[in-house]
Amino acid sequence: MVFEGLAEKLQSTLQKLKGKGKVSEKDVTEAMREVKMALLEADVNFKVVKDFINKVKERAVGAEVLESLTPGQQIIKIVNEELTALMGTTQSKINFSSKPPTILMLVGLQGAGKTTMGGKLANMFKKQGKRPLLVACDIYRPAAIKQLQIVGGQVDVPVFTLGDKENPVKIANEGIKHALDHGNDFVIIDTAGRLHIDDDLMGELQNIKSNVKPHEILLVVDAMTGQDAVNVAEHFNEKLGIDGVILTKLDGDTRGGAALSVRAVTGKPIKFVGLGEKLNENSIEVFHPDRMASRILG
Ligand code: GDP
Repeated sequence: MVFEGLAEKLQSTLQKLKGKGKVSEKDVTEAMREVKMALLEADVNFKVVKDFINKVKERAVGAEVLESLTPGQQIIKIVNEELTALMGTTQSKINFSSKPPTILMLVGLQGAGKTTMGGKLANMFKKQGKRPLLVACDIYRPAAIKQLQIVGGQVDVPVFTLGDKENPVKIANEGIKHALDHGNDFVIIDTAGRLHIDDDLMGELQNIKSNVKPHEILLVVDAMTGQDAVNVAEHFNEKLGIDGVILTKLDGDTRGGAALSVRAVTGKPIKFVGLGEKLNENSIEVFHPDRMASRILG
């Protein structure tokens, strides 16, 4: 299960409060210390944890809560609400263009799961009645184009490529022309990644961005990398400007830190999560902050 360790710790801490008829300020402080430890162990950003704990404490020691009939439950409710707020409160939708095609640009480091996510998104939009086109702009990684073609084949979505000798900006532009000519109302551009963020990569992505003017730039990050994922998101947002984040590999043994910190640190919403290597509908979920909070708190 996602966030198993965190969920278990938070639930057992909060369970202690739940049973109590009366909760003192000391009980709250003690519980918050445990919540804080659990969040830090889950690799949530330190500053985010600190702000979170302060907010919950402030609300929980408010006279109405401690004197209410079910103080323990009230505190659990506050924790749930603040967790939801931390992750962005409401679901963040994709910006569809009123004039097709809607252009979505996937960016991220190598291995984050961009190409796989391209296939999942293409499959999801196709199931929603759209006519997506995948565009292969990673001309550097050997076999990247082939991989995208395989992914496209698996979900029965066309892949546009000009091989690996053309400039990615040209490929992206030609891909969009192709979409217009062939009635594709949704274009997913798969861009190059690198092992680390570097100026060349950012320069190329900025070039594609300014030429193509995508409606959505979505950063794909590997949730298993925890705080690193959040640092990557912060960096891409500063250098390129992103509209949202996609967290992949949430099926793995992730501690959950990225899901809980990325919104607070970057101000950008998580739009989708990826679960598993398959491309079917169960391997991608629209991100709902409230459902994720409930999943964590049980
Ligand atoms: P890219 O370099 O960013 O395009 O990354 P890929 O799409 O090639 O993915 C890198 C590796 O991660 C591949 O082996 C994928 O099968 C795997 N992968 C991608 N998404 C997920 C996911 O949500 N869960 C798991 N467990 N593996 C994933």
